[in-house]
Amino acid sequence: MNRIQMKTPLVEMDGDEMTRILWQMIKDELILPFVELRTEYYDLGLAHRNETNDQVTVDSANATLKYGVAVKCATITPNAARVEEYNLKEMWKSPNGTIRAMLDGTVFRAPILVKGIEPCVRNWEKPITLARHAYGDVYKNSEIKVPGPGKAELVFTAQDGTQIRETIHEFKGAGVLQGIHNTEQSITSFARSCFNYAVDTKQDLWFATKDTISKKYDHTFKDIFQEIYENEYREKFEALGIEYFYTLIDDAVARVMKAKGGFIWACKNYDGDVMSDMVSSAFGSLAMMTSVLVSPAGVYEYEAAHGTVQRHYYKHLKGEETSTNSVATIFAWSGALRKRGELDGIPELCAFADRLEKATLSTIESGKMTRDLALITSLKDVTVLNSQAFISAVRSALETM
Ligand code: NAP
Ligand code: MG
Repeated sequence: MNRIQMKTPLVEMDGDEMTRILWQMIKDELILPFVELRTEYYDLGLAHRNETNDQVTVDSANATLKYGVAVKCATITPNAARVEEYNLKEMWKSPNGTIRAMLDGTVFRAPILVKGIEPCVRNWEKPITLARHAYGDVYKNSEIKVPGPGKAELVFTAQDGTQIRETIHEFKGAGVLQGIHNTEQSITSFARSCFNYAVDTKQDLWFATKDTISKKYDHTFKDIFQEIYENEYREKFEALGIEYFYTLIDDAVARVMKAKGGFIWACKNYDGDVMSDMVSSAFGSLAMMTSVLVSPAGVYEYEAAHGTVQRHYYKHLKGEETSTNSVATIFAWSGALRKRGELDGIPELCAFADRLEKATLSTIESGKMTRDLALITSLKDVTVLNSQAFISAVRSALETM
């Protein structure tokens, strides 16, 4: 069989534990037989990050900036237990954090819809994509536990020494205080990433804050989005027949519950943290979720939204059978291959990515699935497959297409 040729390599970021096992199976069974795969390989497995003093993570992010498209396997973020387990020189930082900081991106997460896995919200017919700003606000705060009566002030000292001063509160007794910030640069790149993604996927964009209450902080987010929209995107949106829509966060939440889906919901950092878990669990499962980091420069990194599935990996190491869902990792590969096809003008590669996704979904719809889905499906008479058998079933579906 003639395999599909590629022009530019994908940046391949290998990872850890059960997802590393799935990674190899997906490549062997679902990609290599059909595509003359070109990748620049970076091993982000924890052992190799440790050997390279985490330089490999930095190198992989730089390669992504160079080539434009990466596909990433889930990786361990070390904690004290992992330092011992892997005998680490240091508690290395989260690779996702390092990569996000270097690519300056926004993370977009969308559920993968399939017949038989119904959203809890009955009127959601199409996916809702959540775009989370990943910098600042309460995640980079300073806090004081106020011991007793006194005056709290907000003070900004400019480089020339001049000051801006606001009274926060005259405390009559004990209390709490918090200082948060964001930057124009970060909000601007968040806005551009959201508008670019809306244009790319031809979907409406919703954005919401609490600007009626937060007249400077949240209002700045609203103003930056509006200004960028008017100056850079309004024409493109109108040509595509899509809409940018701003509202208050409480109004947005109410509308989302009544909506049919099929739009992007941009959220400030905290709103995105809370709302993405609500939206994803209402749609079914973290293993049925795509995740892509999009930078304002137009660089893309595709990954699964879940972790390395440690519990399954330990079973696998003991020689026990696992039934780990590979759908999100398959979709990370299809997303990256499709984007590479678009950028390099290889329609066959885009068509292959479509077929791979279709084969995966039709396998589930025919009643063959991993245990996590079997537990929540509305389909009758399903067959629970192990990790390898599910991927083999997708291969069979792909071959008959
Ligand atoms: P996890 O890997 O997402 O797994 C938590 C549980 O969710 C699993 O034990 C399993 O439940 C279920 N699950 C998740 N993905 C599944 C899949 N594909 N198929 C079937 N079931 C799935 O989270 P974790 O165990 O808390 O974290 C493990 C490691 O992943 C940590 O070291 C963490 O640092 C890392 N992590 C990495 C990323 C990333 O790289 N993007 C994200 C999150 C966490 P059952 O055990 O009940 O079957
Ligand atoms: Mg969270």
